[in-house]
Amino acid sequence: MQLNFIANADVPSSSGRTLQVLDPSDGQPFDEIQRSNAADIDSAVRAARDCFEGVWHKVSAADRGRLLYKLSQKIAEHVDELALIEQRDCGKPVKQARADALALVRYFEFYAGACDKLHGETIPYQDGYSVFTWREPHGVTGHIIPWNYPMQIFGRSVGGALAAGNVCVVKPAEDACLSLIRVAQLAAEVGFPAGALNIVTGYGHEVGDALARHEGIDHISFTGSPKIGTLIQQVAAERHCPVTLELGGKSPQIIFADADLDAAIPVIINAIVQNAGQTCSAGSRVLIQRGIYEPLLERLGRAFEALRVGPAAMDLDVGPLIRQTQQQRVWDFLSDAQVAGIPMVAHGIVVDEAPETGFYQAPTLLRDVPVNHRLAQEEVFGPVLAAMQFADEDEAVALANATQFGLVAGVWTADGARQFRMAKRVRSGQVFINNYGAGGGVELPFGGVKSSGYGREKGFEALYGFTTLKTVAIKHG
Ligand code: ADP
Repeated sequence: MQLNFIANADVPSSSGRTLQVLDPSDGQPFDEIQRSNAADIDSAVRAARDCFEGVWHKVSAADRGRLLYKLSQKIAEHVDELALIEQRDCGKPVKQARADALALVRYFEFYAGACDKLHGETIPYQDGYSVFTWREPHGVTGHIIPWNYPMQIFGRSVGGALAAGNVCVVKPAEDACLSLIRVAQLAAEVGFPAGALNIVTGYGHEVGDALARHEGIDHISFTGSPKIGTLIQQVAAERHCPVTLELGGKSPQIIFADADLDAAIPVIINAIVQNAGQTCSAGSRVLIQRGIYEPLLERLGRAFEALRVGPAAMDLDVGPLIRQTQQQRVWDFLSDAQVAGIPMVAHGIVVDEAPETGFYQAPTLLRDVPVNHRLAQEEVFGPVLAAMQFADEDEAVALANATQFGLVAGVWTADGARQFRMAKRVRSGQVFINNYGAGGGVELPFGGVKSSGYGREKGFEALYGFTTLKTVAIKHG
């Protein structure tokens, strides 16, 4: 049974209740986590506050960096263990689980090096004054993490917050807690003081809500659905607590007729089947220029038919979805597509070895998806790719921007001037030209516009969000 991790100790919830942990590959329970409550959040926030005001704020930026670096190295020693945990807990194929653990190493390595490079400014002002700015930590930051990439999202969020001098209370998703509890234990082993990093597990509407409402939380970082993002903002607004929100997308990959299709095809496929499509930045729409629509669909269709889905341990192209409700969600989208007469081009195969009780879904390619259909508008969070065609650049831009989201976009074209024009005209937080996702991109600021959220995580930019700026004006004559 897994316990919460508060003030460097494994502690049970005061509720005395637990939740089962299911393996998505066979749908069977194999562990338990604490079903925590508001009292547990309160103990975690108190521990964090004591740490912040006691020892943490006295740790120099350089020493903070050393501590983060030690943690990155410790995680590196435990990559196999963490990957195995994630494979079982989240149904991630071995390669994906390892990639997540390695990305976590890289986040702490990157933020370790950034700790002592977060400078203020001096500002020219009136005669007789010296004015400068300090970047100060918020204090106790709350992190509500989703289940799709627990280690990566923990790395980008908690890594940045700790580097900027905050202490953290983390609420992982109820379906994906195990790796993060282990990482917090590793942090204690390398010398993080008690209270610097606390993990409290349980349901979102119970313990997540308690975290968002707690008066001792000075900043909230949330990654999840737009619906819960709205709730978090409303709750935080009551006490004017700053938030960073990453709420997903319906990201387009835009393929012009002059694109290098041999290079584009594997990337288009990976952008939608990676992590079984349960990726905020999934390239879930492929917009194809008219002249190459049919031939490209044919090639994509063949690639989809070759995809194999199975248990995480088999390490195939695609693993199971996280849980039964997610599988049902994908089925609902696909049955809506059928009712609307949206043609299916191709789908992959669920292998015979996949247990019936697991949460499998074959990757599916749909064509001629009308722009107003929910398959072109809403996040499926499964391996379903919606293809649409466009005539020219203007129509490509109009389609790309025709959703409530704006997280990531991919543009494939050999025309250099068009690359710049498209990068300017597409409304999203990131644009990739002739590539997509750029290998994880720990260094690259990430976040959205419109309903994809606001604020940026990843890269150096994240550190500005995890700090508040103080201006000091000294009149010395
Ligand atoms: P999904 O539907 O994909 O699980 P959610 O937005 O519901 O996405 O969940 C993302 C994270 O938000 C999870 O850690 C979840 O437990 C948490 N959460 C869900 N509901 C709430 C809530 N009312 N308040 C705070 N956190 C919540």
